[in-house]
Amino acid sequence: MIRHLPLLAFIALLAAGPAVLPEFTVTLLNYIGLYAIVVVGLVLLTGVGGLTSFGQAAFVGLGAYATAYLSTAHGLSPWATLFIGLAITGAVALGLGFITLRMGGHYLPLGTIAWGISLYFLFGTVEFLGGHTGITSIPTVSVFDWEMKSGREFYYLIWGVVLLAILAVRNLLDSRQGRAIRALKGGAVMAEAMGVNTPRAKIVIFLIAALLASVSGWLYAHLQRFVNPTPFSLTQGIEYLFMAVVGGIGHVWGAVIGAGLITILKQWLQDLLPQLLGQSGNFEIIVFGFAMVLVLQRARNGLWPVIMKLAPRSRRQDAIPQGEPLARRTPAATGTALLEVRDVTKRFGGLVANQNMSLTVRAGEVMALIGPNGAGKSTLFNCISGVNPATEGEIRFLGEQVERLASRGIARRGMSRTFQHVRLLPQMSVLENVAIGAHLRGNKGVAAAALRLDRAEEQRLLAEAARQIERVGLAEHMFDPAGSLALGKQRIVEIARALASDPCLLLLDEPAAGLRYLEKQALSELLQRLRSEGMGILLVEHDMDFVMGLADRVVVMEFGQKIAEGLPVEVQQNPRVLEAYLGGVE
Ligand code: ADP
Ligand code: MG
Repeated sequence: MIRHLPLLAFIALLAAGPAVLPEFTVTLLNYIGLYAIVVVGLVLLTGVGGLTSFGQAAFVGLGAYATAYLSTAHGLSPWATLFIGLAITGAVALGLGFITLRMGGHYLPLGTIAWGISLYFLFGTVEFLGGHTGITSIPTVSVFDWEMKSGREFYYLIWGVVLLAILAVRNLLDSRQGRAIRALKGGAVMAEAMGVNTPRAKIVIFLIAALLASVSGWLYAHLQRFVNPTPFSLTQGIEYLFMAVVGGIGHVWGAVIGAGLITILKQWLQDLLPQLLGQSGNFEIIVFGFAMVLVLQRARNGLWPVIMKLAPRSRRQDAIPQGEPLARRTPAATGTALLEVRDVTKRFGGLVANQNMSLTVRAGEVMALIGPNGAGKSTLFNCISGVNPATEGEIRFLGEQVERLASRGIARRGMSRTFQHVRLLPQMSVLENVAIGAHLRGNKGVAAAALRLDRAEEQRLLAEAARQIERVGLAEHMFDPAGSLALGKQRIVEIARALASDPCLLLLDEPAAGLRYLEKQALSELLQRLRSEGMGILLVEHDMDFVMGLADRVVVMEFGQKIAEGLPVEVQQNPRVLEAYLGGVE
């Protein structure tokens, strides 16, 4: 209850607003609310997902024009046109998303600019949309019998939508799907390797942001009861982005702060600057430009984190999640060939990083892959796990050919891995990072998450993550940001994350690097326990004592090729191996 106090106080203040505030302020708040709805979508899309869109104003326009046209020319009820507008916006966003998101890089921002400009001109030229004069006499909206004629009444509808949008997006971010979305920015390769369909996650947030913009447009049209193309221009699209950046690009409440601050500031500057300068013009744009630079310099994450720092911290005691165990896959019988690599070659341009590499890993054995730096071990891991597919050769996993599958497809079949260069989401807690590993063991979607219908499954996923964290001995760090741990421990977090997927084959790339002696012993014991449970383990490691004490068999690589294979004792005495190690780089 205490935790929700600020929110309840905010809602109470909001509700009291129209009763006590002057007309002008209510109008201003209405606009802030309309903007905030769009900006919440941008926080999700740009702030969290890392995808920049300049075209949100055009989606607002779609929602506004759809209802304006259909409710005036065809007399449809505003509630019907809301859904038609959403359907049109959704279809456009999907089409645009499929084209631009696939290409990655700068195509999305450029695509949204192009789309923003063309739609703006379309609104202005199409005759039945009224050209630059627009459409007038748009009907009012009624909720049951309550006809919302005045801004004071409409206010409740707008701010109701703002609150719902914020709650839904916040719920979404705090879920299985939300973790996948939060991994998009900076963790897409890892997320794919944990089974997340990242292209789909991108489309989903693009769609959500577009739909929120469309709802804002619908509200706008029925509040103003008149639309023309001006508010849907590229300039407005940039202003939305600006609001998101100023408020706090990764925080849903930052949307309200950003929308509020920019709207009020703009109003104030539009009055003040022409007076100061003695001539009229859009001088506020210049001030905004400077303010943007200042915010990016001083508060890179926007104002919301700054505000949160000022507020008294409520120390919430985090409880270790408990829950029913998740279903497990049937383990392969000890000795079954899990992984069969045949003549795998990987070229990077002219460089042959792997040449005709072959090896087999069986259930219940630890296979070590060793070799000097640059021998091609991590490259082979990437080929096997689908992170960076092989140029030639065949890879079978559980008897099935997988060398052409995406890494998420391979993960789904029961292979999991860690990365030599740790790939954690440093701001997220250890628990949440590990829970990403369990992504494929849940199936609740975005809508279920937004509506909080996923709580039972979420509890079980988090409990599973907690169990794996305890298993690897990191219980005391469960709620710490993953980035705050020592590098050696971050590697162990990666092992817990891989285990959370319930794999039958584990690929570990230098898991013991950076660990102290006792930590290495604990890791060795853990891997032995996993082996005795029937797991197959392929590991790259430089610590020879660690490798020789643990591995059942060893494959030695040099210059991308296999130079030896056998029991640890055999390999240790192999003259070529001694040559590679003693005469080689290390
Ligand atoms: P190891 O893990 O055995 O130390 P790697 O597999 O990381 O070796 O690297 C093998 C060789 O492939 C190195 O020469 C490295 O520079 C090269 N290499 C690895 N990844 C890439 C890449 N993405 N593009 C170009 N060259 C690469
Ligand atoms: Mg390596």
